[in-house]
Parts: sequence; C-alpha cells; structure tokens
Amino acid sequence: MLINAELLLQYQRCKRRTFLDIHGDKSQRDAPNELLQKLQQDKIAHHLSTLAKVTYHQPDYSYGNWEAAEAATLELMQRGVEYIYKGVLLANYFEGYTLLSRPDLLVKRPGKSCFGDWMYVPASIELGKRPKQEYQVVAAFHAQVLAAIQDFAPETAWLILRTKDRNYPVDLLKWTPRMQQILEEFIQVLELPNPPEVFISRQKCNLCHWYSQCYAIAQSEKHLSLLPGVTPLRYTQLQDLAITTLESLANTSPSTLENLLGFDSEVAPKLIVQAQSALERRPLILPYPLPTEDITFTAPIELYFDIEAQPDLDLNYLLGVLVVDRLANTEQFYSFLADKPEDEELVWQQFLDLVWQYPEAPIYHFCVYEFDTVKRLARLYNTPSSLVRPVLSRFVDVYEQLTQSVALPVESYALKAIARWLGFEWHEKEASGAKCIYWYDQWLETGDRSLLEIIQSYNEDDCRATLTVKNWLVKFFQDEYGLRLA
Ligand code: SF4
Repeated sequence: MLINAELLLQYQRCKRRTFLDIHGDKSQRDAPNELLQKLQQDKIAHHLSTLAKVTYHQPDYSYGNWEAAEAATLELMQRGVEYIYKGVLLANYFEGYTLLSRPDLLVKRPGKSCFGDWMYVPASIELGKRPKQEYQVVAAFHAQVLAAIQDFAPETAWLILRTKDRNYPVDLLKWTPRMQQILEEFIQVLELPNPPEVFISRQKCNLCHWYSQCYAIAQSEKHLSLLPGVTPLRYTQLQDLAITTLESLANTSPSTLENLLGFDSEVAPKLIVQAQSALERRPLILPYPLPTEDITFTAPIELYFDIEAQPDLDLNYLLGVLVVDRLANTEQFYSFLADKPEDEELVWQQFLDLVWQYPEAPIYHFCVYEFDTVKRLARLYNTPSSLVRPVLSRFVDVYEQLTQSVALPVESYALKAIARWLGFEWHEKEASGAKCIYWYDQWLETGDRSLLEIIQSYNEDDCRATLTVKNWLVKFFQDEYGLRLA
C-alpha cells in the first residue's frame, strides 16, 4: 500500500478520514463544493506565484506510474538541476507499505550526497499563513524519504507559506521523531477492522468529503461532538468517565468534571447545562449569567451592523446597516459596498456618516469582528478618535450577551444555527460568509453583478437575523427575570 504525504496530513486532522479515504466506499463521498474549489484555485495560484520566481524542472511522467516518475526524478537529481517541481521518490516502509513522497520542490544545496557535491532539501508550498504542526510533519516525511534516496539526511526542510516572510525552516531533528510516531500510529489505524469513531468539529469537517455520511451517523447517535463546548480533549476526558451520552452528561455533577484537563469551574457547569438544554430541547439560563444591569434592552432606534470581508485582500468591502426605528415603525437597510477594493475608504466614510445620524442608537452586531474592524479601519484611514470612540461605545455584541447567559438546544452558536432555530431563514439558502468571499473574488474576475446582489442580500439577512436573535433575547430575559426592560 502506498502512503503519501496527503494521507499523513489528513490523518493529523482526522483519523477517521484517512481510514475512509483508503477503505471507504468512494461513491458515498460528497461532491467538491465551491469552497473546496476556491481552495484548490488559491493553491494553484500560490504554486504558480512561487514557481514564477525560480527556474525549475519537472519530471515527465503520467500520474500513477510512480516507478517511471521516480526514475525521471532521479535523472534530474543526478544532473544536479537547481529546482525540481513535483518530483517523485519512493521508499520501502513496513512490509506491505511504501512511502510515496512528492515534495512540491526539491532544492539543490551544496553538500555531499550519492549524486556528488550537492544534495537536495524538500520544500512544501502551503496555503496557510502559519507553520502548522501538520505542515512540519509532512516536511519531515518528505525529508525522510529523500534521505534514503540521496544517502544524506538534511537538517532543515522548508515551508513556503502565504505570508510576507514566506520561507519557514523546519527543524528536522525536532520533527522527524514526531513524524515517525505519527506514521506508526497511522499504520495501526489503517489496520483496524472498523473506522475510528465520528467526531464532528466544524472547522475540520466542513471541508471534508465524508461530511454528509459522518454527520448522519453523529445525529443518529446523538454524538456528544454535536454539543457546543465538547472539544476532542474534553470528549476524551468524558469517555474516561464513561460519560458518552447526553443523558449521562446532563446528570453529571459539575464537581466531577471541573478538575479535569480542559475543564474548570466555569466550563464544567456550563457544559452540563448545555447538555440539559439539548436533552430538554429548550433554552436554559446558565449558572452565572450576565448581571441584569449589563443585559441588552430595547431602544427607540437601533442599528444592526454586519461586515463582509475578503481576508486575502485584507479588505472589508461591504458594511451593511439595518436601521430599526421602533417609534416610526420602519426598517431601512443601507448597503455600503466597495465594488472595487479601492473604495473601502469611501464605504467606511458612508458608514460613519450614517451611524452619526443616530448618535444615541445602540449598534448591535454578532461576534467581535465588527468591533475590531471598526477600530482597524479607523486606524487605517486616520479617522479622529472623537469620531470613532463614541461609535464603538454604542456597540453591543449579541453573541456575547447570549452565550454568557443562555444555553440553547443548538449544535453551534453561529448566527445561522441560532437564527434558524428561531425560525429565521436566509433568502440565499446556500450562502455563507466563506461563499461570499468566493463570490466577491468571482465578481472581481468576471464583473458579474448578480454575485454582488447575492452578497448584499445575504448581508442584509445577517443583519435581520441579528435583530431576530436580539429580540428573542430581550423577551427571554424579560420572561426569566421578570424585568421591565424599557
Ligand atoms: S467529516 Fe469530520 S469526522 Fe468525518 S471523516 Fe471528515 S473530518 Fe473526519
């Protein structure tokens, strides 16, 4: 069986995924979605921009014919060419397993190897901006196979990241033993009779082609990973105590959990109430909710604010504000859109002009991004603090208010999950923040204005969803605390 770097990379993200990739029924996989396609395009663009800076050779082979590919790569190494793109190297591993290394680049360096007075070091062109552990393990994998081929073990491999200081040296003395340990575990998992247990984690599962299958299993089992706050580490601790169902977690005493790794005296009771909420399918007040004087209220005029950004361009291209005038009983949505990146300053000004028209109105948003971005835009465009500080003092984070006070029977505290639980629906059913990034890129590329319209509609719905959640929260607080919130 061939083991390549991609399998090792995915194994570090999810053991189950590599098992399914090798043994699973491929017809059950999800089709690649737009986000995966965008990632793929970004990856190609990053490779091309890196390759544009070097003169490289690429061995001539047809995909899958690995022996021929290795022979063509060795021929280039023997010739001593400076850079080899997507060379192929093979090394025997345990019986029945062969390591297949296709480093993005093999870079010639002075030194002694079986080829002569030179040797090669591997470099991986990675889309991430940080030298994540999984990248460094993969770099060590390439280096190990390379060492067996050239009779010389390099001390350093390289990551070419998507940042200004792009080249990151990987300390192979440190990472090779770790990689070997992971490789051994990986083989053991592959030889199991059944796939490792499902564990749904939004970040890693959202881009996985087994998601539909795993999610269906998790739902049918009421798996604890669907409960917000259950991280892999906490789940392991719960398993050790044989707490693997909603019922058992809901009936656990906080003192049983609070001294465990990953828990503390705040997390433990919160997680238990979260399980009770999921079990009883109703919202429950958390053990230490916000003091009543800090909770949200209803004002005559309220603003609901949401931003769409394109992180790769470091651009906030859409500032949407919904003005809710409760006295006049009107709602008006303002969509300040930079249809070209240079217009960011203009939309920032338009936003400021609007919010200053309502100097008393609270500005509701969901999560901290809007608050942080307003501070960043003010710095970027040298906006006087006398214009920005009073605006920031009116910001109210609905997410913060909610998650500090209430447990909801939802799988996530993302705006979408909460608002949908309240019955709110987005007009653009398939839209998401990440898809908007993709659509804005497409707009810049194609000039298709309908994409901007979809993004604007999605952004308006985000503001309206925030309004829905905030209204529900005020009502919930009123009912629970019997408050007369003016
Ligand atoms: S969906 Fe999640 S749990 Fe399932 S294989 Fe993919 S990453 Fe692993």
